[in-house]
Amino acid sequence: MELLGRTKDILGDLIAFPTVSRDSNLEMIAYLAEKLETAGAQVDIQLDLSGTKANLFATVGPDAPGGIVLSGHSDVVPVDDQPWSFDPFAMTEQDGLIYGRGSCDMKGFIAAATALADRFAGLELQRPVHFAFTYDEEIGCFGARALMQQLEKREHKPAMVIIGEPTEMRIIEGHKGCYEYSTHFHGSEGHGSAPELGVNAVEYAVRYAARLLELKDDLRGRADPMSRFNPPWTTVNLGALTGGSAHNVIASKARIDWEMRPVHSSDADFVKGQLEEYCTRHLLPAMQSVYPEAEIVTEVIGEMDGLEVVDENAARDLVASLTGTNDADVVAFGTEAGIFQKCGMNVVVCGPGSIMQAHKADEFLAESQLASCLDMLEKLADKLDRPAPRN
Ligand SMILES: [Zn+2]
Repeated sequence: MELLGRTKDILGDLIAFPTVSRDSNLEMIAYLAEKLETAGAQVDIQLDLSGTKANLFATVGPDAPGGIVLSGHSDVVPVDDQPWSFDPFAMTEQDGLIYGRGSCDMKGFIAAATALADRFAGLELQRPVHFAFTYDEEIGCFGARALMQQLEKREHKPAMVIIGEPTEMRIIEGHKGCYEYSTHFHGSEGHGSAPELGVNAVEYAVRYAARLLELKDDLRGRADPMSRFNPPWTTVNLGALTGGSAHNVIASKARIDWEMRPVHSSDADFVKGQLEEYCTRHLLPAMQSVYPEAEIVTEVIGEMDGLEVVDENAARDLVASLTGTNDADVVAFGTEAGIFQKCGMNVVVCGPGSIMQAHKADEFLAESQLASCLDMLEKLADKLDRPAPRN
């Protein structure tokens, strides 16, 4: 298996770049750019505002519609305080398993795609094949968002995206989103003996929290009975409620940290709309009648879009034809998929390794998984290698 050997060499190099999200990924991006350029790809590097991180977007084949994107994130989660048996940033092979930070999440897929770049470049492609390697997926998908702005400007947007997050090569056509917020309540302080002279932020936070819990129940009623998610509805979690200073002081500040995991973005819009209405109609008028500067401010910590299951999904169908199975599933973990989907592309998540190993000490990728991934990509190359129809 010459191809598998080459892929493992690349994977070893990739693991050796410690691309923890807080640090730069530029060396790894430069390495991949060099490999892809040598293979014959046209490479675009997109720096972030800090200049320390970059996306790579590379293309082989014609500038034409219908392109297929092979996508992966370049960053990895930290290894701090994790009991590793090996050097996390050096690839170690043992008993058919490849150990190293990022081996399954998701440098294995990036290595496989890169190893096949020259193969794709050698075909008479009718539509382009793209390689999209992003930054900052693990801390909010900032790279993918920036990439979308870039792709929106292109004449031909890609049509399909395969995201190689670890699914053990199963076809994943949907996952929930993850929206996180901190809602801040600003009231006015005063003595506990005269509550009508102050605006108690803790009291308003509690009323807001109670409204959130009502909405949490409403969301159960909005669930699609056919939904395959577990649980099938959009969930809400009140993670933390803090505020105030002492028994006898009217609290001027309070905060609620909460999240929702929407099955559909319409559920998220529903919750946001209901909260907005509750604040503008009920809470704020009451607060501001005592203290005009009182306010409620919701800070967006992160809004990772879900991958919504759709009937027509050419990317899912393509991967099904390559892997020979029609079983498509949904998962609980989030990816960049929703960002590509919102941009109008068909998206499927399918990649080597198991999410059970991701983010943990002794993260590994089974070599057999890497081989299956290469097999899928080789079949993709075969499929795209069709002579042009004559007209
Ligand atoms: Zn990942």
